[in-house]
Amino acid sequence: MRKGRVYIISGPSGSGKDTVMKKIFEKLPQIAFSISSITRPMRPGEVEGEKYNFISRERFLEMIANDELLEHNIFVGNYYGTPKAPVVDCIEKGQDILIEVDVNGAVQIREKMPEVVSIFIMPPSLEVLKNRLTGRGTDSAEVIEKRLNEALREIAGAVDYDYIVVNDDLDTAVNDFVSIVSVDKFKTDRNIQLINKILNK
Ligand code: 5GP
Repeated sequence: MRKGRVYIISGPSGSGKDTVMKKIFEKLPQIAFSISSITRPMRPGEVEGEKYNFISRERFLEMIANDELLEHNIFVGNYYGTPKAPVVDCIEKGQDILIEVDVNGAVQIREKMPEVVSIFIMPPSLEVLKNRLTGRGTDSAEVIEKRLNEALREIAGAVDYDYIVVNDDLDTAVNDFVSIVSVDKFKTDRNIQLINKILNK
């Protein structure tokens, strides 16, 4: 059976990645989502097991020690990681799966699984990025400056991604993402079994 594909999605704060992802799942419900294990406290409105499993620091360190994580990173003092088993189960079953990670996480996954397809959600310009980061109106200038620097650091890592999707217009960005997933089915590495079958190998 053809293996599932791992898609990585990243994008800085201000790229609109969360909104793009919501729409992607409406359009591509067949793609599974990797639920990250994280140690930061739950925010209002978040639901355990939806996007994240909220776990203790002790349990997280145990997961690292037991090699249960595909990648992990510390972000603003909290641990974030991708559990390995659900990802491996999905691709073995032939199901595609989307993993949301930051740039550091993507580097680690690529090292272990070079066949992943990585997609970076990019704001259309520095000006738009700045406007989106200040738009919430609740943060101090210092916090905004920090978030902007963090976003620029992430954007510098975009050069290692397979695809860049610019999120200027939401529907266009979502359609662009869907196009990438559609064309990926035709990549040679996804069709080796077909070649072998026809050649009777
Ligand atoms: P937030 O706390 O705002 O939900 O997420 C903070 C950052 O962590 C975001 O950039 C998000 O993409 C990233 N992130 C979410 N899940 C994971 C994960 O499993 N691994 C890594 N390395 N980063 C993650």
